[in-house]
Amino acid sequence: MKFSVVTIFPEIITTYLGTSILKRAISRDLINVDVYNLRDYASDKHNTVDDYPYGGGAGMVLKPEPFFALVDRIWPDATKRRIVLLSPQGRVFNQETALELAKEQRETVLFCGRYEAIDERVKEYLADDEFSVGNYVLTGGELPALVIIDAVARLVPGVLGDSRSPEADSFSCGLLDYPHYTRPENFRGMSVPPVLLCGNHSKILRWRKMESLRRTLEKRPELLENYSLSSEEKKLLDEIKEELP
Ligand code: SAM
Repeated sequence: MKFSVVTIFPEIITTYLGTSILKRAISRDLINVDVYNLRDYASDKHNTVDDYPYGGGAGMVLKPEPFFALVDRIWPDATKRRIVLLSPQGRVFNQETALELAKEQRETVLFCGRYEAIDERVKEYLADDEFSVGNYVLTGGELPALVIIDAVARLVPGVLGDSRSPEADSFSCGLLDYPHYTRPENFRGMSVPPVLLCGNHSKILRWRKMESLRRTLEKRPELLENYSLSSEEKKLLDEIKEELP
């Protein structure tokens, strides 16, 4: 799994990637992330990467030349790269997109914008995709790039460790995850559901499925519209609905 990030603030990316699970994944070569400082590809002696917008208006625009120079130099073969522009105007990134990127054979190159925008010609002539991390506007594309790398990396076998599978996580199977508890069994009068202590694996599985369905119905009912329920799940969901006031 190969990512590259193009940014004017490389330290935002390297700091996060130098921590915890992603640090370990990189050191074990499970994922590979190169970070490029856009300023290094500017053509003037001041390493200028931004300029005033044509037509006037507030804010600066990231110039096209450094992006094109970088692509010419590092990714000249268009068949080996997938350039993703991070933008609030893009397709909203979700677990399905993460799965899609996890299967990507090409190198995924993430372009982080700053200021008002990136010159439109970068999107038109270089980018293969435009992804947003949600319907809100951030100051730059670095957090979205990290969100994407993190979500994709944890789908790569081995990244979460052998005993942990991402398949049970929220969205992966189409439902929200069930509630989790750890010791102590009783904390300030708040007890762990007794079924989790009974040692009966099938009862625990049933309870977890029931809670997953319950949470999805309560918090994100629209997810159930695209989920195909097994006959067992249908029965559990009917039980949950009967309990509703
Ligand atoms: N003027 C732009 C607009 O309204 O579409 C917003 C520019 S934003 C201040 C600067 C940069 O942050 C963008 O070029 C993009 O790379 C990044 N960015 C901000 N919000 C984002 C989001 N929700 N998803 C992905 N990238 C985002």
